[in-house]
Amino acid sequence: MVREKSSPICLICRSDNMKPHFYPPNRFNNKMFYYFCCEDCRSVSIHPVPSRDDMNQIYGVNDHSYLKSVPEGKKIEFNFNYPRYNHRKIQIDLFNDHIPHIKGKSIVDYATGSGAYLAFAKSKGFECIGIEYNREFAGILREKTGLDILPIEDFEKKYYSGKFDVIHFGHILEHLENPKELLDWAKNYSHDNTAVIIDGHLENNFCISWFVIKIISKLKGKKYNEYAPQHITFTNYRSQLAFFENSGLKTIKYKVLEQSFPLPETIKPFSFSRLSRYLLSKFSIFISSFNPWWGNLFHYIGKFHFDKDECKT
Ligand SMILES: [Zn+2]
Repeated sequence: MVREKSSPICLICRSDNMKPHFYPPNRFNNKMFYYFCCEDCRSVSIHPVPSRDDMNQIYGVNDHSYLKSVPEGKKIEFNFNYPRYNHRKIQIDLFNDHIPHIKGKSIVDYATGSGAYLAFAKSKGFECIGIEYNREFAGILREKTGLDILPIEDFEKKYYSGKFDVIHFGHILEHLENPKELLDWAKNYSHDNTAVIIDGHLENNFCISWFVIKIISKLKGKKYNEYAPQHITFTNYRSQLAFFENSGLKTIKYKVLEQSFPLPETIKPFSFSRLSRYLLSKFSIFISSFNPWWGNLFHYIGKFHFDKDECKT
């Protein structure tokens, strides 16, 4: 087992005022990853941060096994017919709501994943570019979706002085060691009116389902979990908003929502255990509808502040 000597920092606000969190550690790639809560912003961060080698094992083509089910020579067909409390359904509904307020038609979707968001934007007449880290994965996605999806280096070469009307980060910040760096990167590709749309998890925020799941996990008293630590920060509604505003964004809209996941979205295939988890999710979503800050997802839209001497054309 590899031991890590450095001390934990908050990956959201960079404070070193950290206390061990009650989440059990995670054992992955012959290492233990621990969770610490920031005493300043109440976000939770992993420690140590996964190395390049860990990242290669967590991500890449193997992380997207659904691509293997698309037959050779065939393209992914998107029907956007997701269950109501699925995060993709929430993403595209909110994007649809924003369209009348968006100036221009170019969109960059960073870490585009399955391509569903980009395909939806394309269906609404947007000029779409997707970005993926892994060159092999970007190539497969391009082939399977017919969308213009580039590896990050190719994007930066091709559009080094490009400005876009929408930049979207969907469920990516919680995977990053330094999420602020990504927003600094986005500013380079933004003009005065670029809509920066960001959505993701709020994994340290209150909702009934989260509360029940954590209590059960505590009662089970597991010493550690064994899964790939994809999410390395867990925010709450307040720390997530503070992060955006401290990263130079001016908020247009900020919403807390709730998806069913990790509980089931439907009762099929039926079992009593599935039914009880499904009902818990429905109950939790119902209760959260009475409090705007309860839920497990955030949706943000903002614009960058530009100083007068900053180039923004
Ligand atoms: Zn913090």
